[in-house]
Amino acid sequence: MRKIDLNNFRVATSETVRDINCRIVLNLVRKHQPISRADLTRHSGLQRSTVSAITEQLLGNRWLREGALGQLPRGRKPTFLHLNEDRAGIVGISLRPTITHLALANLEGRFLAEDSLPTPATPEEFVKQVSQRIRSFTKERPHMAYEGIGVSLPGRADLPGQRFVFAPNLAWKLEDLKARLERATNLPVDLENAANACALSEFWFGGHTEQVRNLVAVTVSEGIGVGLILNGQLVRGAAGLAGEFGHVALTEEGPICSCGNQGCWEVYASNSAALRYYAEAKASPRNKSAHHKKQAELANFEHLLQLAGQGDASALEALDRMANFLGQGLAMLVSGFAPEVIVVVGEVTRMWDRVGPVVSAVVKQRSFTHATTRIMPCGLAPQPRLRGIIAMVLQKHFGAPTIA
Ligand SMILES: [Zn+2]
Repeated sequence: MRKIDLNNFRVATSETVRDINCRIVLNLVRKHQPISRADLTRHSGLQRSTVSAITEQLLGNRWLREGALGQLPRGRKPTFLHLNEDRAGIVGISLRPTITHLALANLEGRFLAEDSLPTPATPEEFVKQVSQRIRSFTKERPHMAYEGIGVSLPGRADLPGQRFVFAPNLAWKLEDLKARLERATNLPVDLENAANACALSEFWFGGHTEQVRNLVAVTVSEGIGVGLILNGQLVRGAAGLAGEFGHVALTEEGPICSCGNQGCWEVYASNSAALRYYAEAKASPRNKSAHHKKQAELANFEHLLQLAGQGDASALEALDRMANFLGQGLAMLVSGFAPEVIVVVGEVTRMWDRVGPVVSAVVKQRSFTHATTRIMPCGLAPQPRLRGIIAMVLQKHFGAPTIA
């Protein structure tokens, strides 16, 4: 139950009621389509006349479309309703330290076009190159209405100003990304943290049952990000900064982190940590030969995964150490939030056969509450950050309205 915010509320009018019912109908169509009006009445518990009025409105403004006639043994054949998935397009951008992905999606979150580019070295160049690509998306589909752009960030954007406040792994500082991109594209822009985007992606498109209301997404890459959905709602915290578990210290001493502190979870459990473990394994006394020394520095995590896949002992040792620390942080999340699901996103999930059991053992040992949290690698969905940022824009229409 949420407390009513007496500084920011709207009293319910008959329009509020209609808006809520409209969203319920829209979500029921999305879930059960193709669906007849009679089935919508049954699923919603609304009056038949109300369902009829709402569907007329949704057909009128093209959120829904009518499809084939249903087959019934006798009587009038019902016309099935579908979501008009190509009514509007949403552009998702996943900005990462080295690579930027873009996608145009329809109302069902299906990708219609995709593109990617190396993340430009300056914010000005970023806005220029990204808006050029968006223009080519929209030019090819002039019949679509464009709802807006969502940008997934490797950091936290403060909610009121939507400026960067915390992005230690990105090489440049960008103020006013929202305003600049809006000017360049003439579309509304929303910024969201990448881990929050992944949590939304999993919540909306992950195929979980309706009982999953508490879900945590952990993104493992250059750093570690955490997105929290608790009681069915994304948790943002004051100034949108909630979820920075990657920068909670596991030890007082320890390697210096990009945030300036020491011993943060991410310096022990990120991809960069695994590369460090690999170098340490190679430098250990049992690996003294010159041949091994030469290989001690790996270019990237991708390479480490390849070696681990080939059975390289040092790579596997590095991966196991990373998995152990990943488990330590996940145990904290399990004890702290008791979520139904924790989903892990990142390249490391490709070796989940090896990593998963280590993680599970540590979590089991360390989380005293023994919550029945399922820890799973992100599904096959391509680009969870992109899907999630698209889900965030979709939420404006399909999510529960904020009325109090
Ligand atoms: Zn840190």
